[in-house]
Amino acid sequence: MNILITGGAGFIGSHLVDLHMEKGDRVIVLDNLSTGSLSNIEHHTDHPDFTFYEASMEDWAELDDVVSAVDLVYHMAAVVGVKHVLESPTNVIGGNITATEHLMEALAKCNSTASVIIASSSEVYGFNEEMLFSETDDLVLPSTDRLRWCYAFTKLADEILGFSYYHQYGLKTIIVRLFNTVGARQRARYGMVLPHFIAQASSGDPITIYGDGKQTRSFCDVRDTSRMLYTLIQKERAYGQIVNVGADREISINELAQLVKQRANSNSEIKYMDYEEAYGMNFRDIVHRRPDLGRLHDLTGCTSELSLEDTIDFLLNISKGQ
Ligand code: UDP
Repeated sequence: MNILITGGAGFIGSHLVDLHMEKGDRVIVLDNLSTGSLSNIEHHTDHPDFTFYEASMEDWAELDDVVSAVDLVYHMAAVVGVKHVLESPTNVIGGNITATEHLMEALAKCNSTASVIIASSSEVYGFNEEMLFSETDDLVLPSTDRLRWCYAFTKLADEILGFSYYHQYGLKTIIVRLFNTVGARQRARYGMVLPHFIAQASSGDPITIYGDGKQTRSFCDVRDTSRMLYTLIQKERAYGQIVNVGADREISINELAQLVKQRANSNSEIKYMDYEEAYGMNFRDIVHRRPDLGRLHDLTGCTSELSLEDTIDFLLNISKGQ
């Protein structure tokens, strides 16, 4: 099978590359390396079944040719990370909305029969106060002048694009809402919490908790996430649906800091920072976020196999160079 992975040099994309290369597929990666890195895919670059294009879908002339021969598309390319979003919101719009539109246009133009996963995010649930976030829930988002939310708005636009092309052109689109994916190759510099805590605990620097640390998240190991996406993209029943993807164990950021510190056997102090200091502006954080995974399970039978402790230990070993 021919697989196109946009953002394939990035964190989740590169794990999908590994998975499909292992299955013996032909994999094409399209990545502009804005947040992705060649080091994530360099172990495949000499393989005859692997092709890498360094390009942005916003303005890439070869896109039509490339999409015409693919069987599966994972559209993972996106500008991510709260810090990035606050610093360059216009890049986020180009990288997230324009790119998706060009991809869908190119697929529609060649009457593609490929199955397409569009990566959206749990951010679109916004200030939902349900205990579990379900795909049928209303979305609770703030006014558009809150730049922190720019990413969520672009992901919603991607979802609408996906549905429009599904209904109007019959593209076999599946929207996935990814919940806090963690694991190897996730960069601390975009502000995500677990790589930050691992780096801090490993170096003995203070572990920085933003706000009061009572906010909760549900973390899923990227190896589980990619297996779930791989299974989902093959399910016809998933076309035209939104599907939450992640793990449903909820943990507070305070507990996460303690867990990392303890598993790293670290002497790092735990330091609280207000959001103003952390992000250069004040914002209302999401208080809790936990996915309802009923639909994912119904469609794929998949559940997460790796615990948060497994992921933390794995990342600590990588950080020690083992
Ligand atoms: N966070 C933190 N310390 C850090 C980085 C993040 O306390 O060094 C907090 C952040 O404010 C948020 C949570 O951890 O409440 C998860 O942050 P992340 O950016 O990883 O994901 P998201 O907010 O998108 O769920």
